[in-house]
Order: sequence, then C-alpha cells, then structure tokens
Amino acid sequence: MNFNYIDNNCLYIINKHHYIGTIQNCLRISKDCAELINTTKKPNIFFTRYNLLISIINELITVEKKYKLKNPKPSEIKKDLMRKEPYTIDNFIDRYYQNTILKVNSLKTVKAKENSTKKFLADIQDYYIYMDKSAIFKLNNLYNSIIDNYKLTLKKVGYSFCKYCGKQIKEDSIFCTYCGKKRN
Ligand SMILES: [Zn+2]
Repeated sequence: MNFNYIDNNCLYIINKHHYIGTIQNCLRISKDCAELINTTKKPNIFFTRYNLLISIINELITVEKKYKLKNPKPSEIKKDLMRKEPYTIDNFIDRYYQNTILKVNSLKTVKAKENSTKKFLADIQDYYIYMDKSAIFKLNNLYNSIIDNYKLTLKKVGYSFCKYCGKQIKEDSIFCTYCGKKRN
C-alpha cells in the first residue's frame, strides 16, 4: 500500500459535517492502520483498524477530486483493499492461529490450554460479520486442530481423554476418575 501523496493541501479539514482531521492526519492514520493490519495478532485490533482504514479512505475519496489527490488515488487504494480483502483476512487468521499455538504449547496445565483455546474462538466471534463463510470455516478447523495438537502432546506423556466426559485422565486407567465410566 502506497500513500505517497504530493499534498500541498495538507491542512484542510476533510469532512464538512464531522471534524475527522486534516488530509495529512488522515494519511498518517491510514499508514498506521495499514501497518497494524498486516502485523497485529489481535482480532479486535485487526478489525477495528481495518474498519477505520476503510472509513478514512472513504472520506478521502470524497475530496479526491477537489484536492487532486493522486499517486495512488484513494479510490484506487479502496479498490485494491477490496480486491485483497479475503487474503488480508486470511493472513491475519494464520498469524492469529500461529500465535495461539505458541501460547497453548507454552502453557503447563490442561485447564490453561483449554482456556487459551476457547479464547481463540471467543475473541474473534464478534467479528464473524466481517468474514465470509470460508474464513469462518477455516477458523473452526483451526480451533479443532489446536485441541488435537495438545491432546496429542498429552498422549505422549501418558495422558488421555475420557470419551464420555472429555476430562483428562491417565492413559492406563480402566475407569474414568471423573464420570466413573468404564473405558472401552
Ligand atoms: Zn469420564
């Protein structure tokens, strides 16, 4: 993304009705947003910044002709953003997943791993409205793979999960210590 405008009009207020800043300010915020969108691992930051970027670009489009904004034009930036949106969101999901996996692996107790895994979906669910079906499908698959990943790790150190109640128990126990059901 390129925001190298030649702007001699940098001290104008963009919107007649709402003060949202000067063109220069808008460009600065846009740059910050674009940078965060490509690096953050937090859903709230990603989606609030993404939406802020779109609304600022929309404001810039309204004055694009008046102030002869160019190189590239805000309307071109928006087209580009829209075209790349699925990839931008997909890249974010990958970063978010990698970060969660690292965290879950670093935690010692099963309870903590479980909580962190639940948080993976809980923290992003509010933003489903901004995602398409395939992104949501992917998130749910990743959620399951995080669980599979730590169940596998636990199995290696002699733990298993009760198929009736889902609690963590010793691999070689005949009865579940939580629900009492006989295993197998
Ligand atoms: Zn059980």
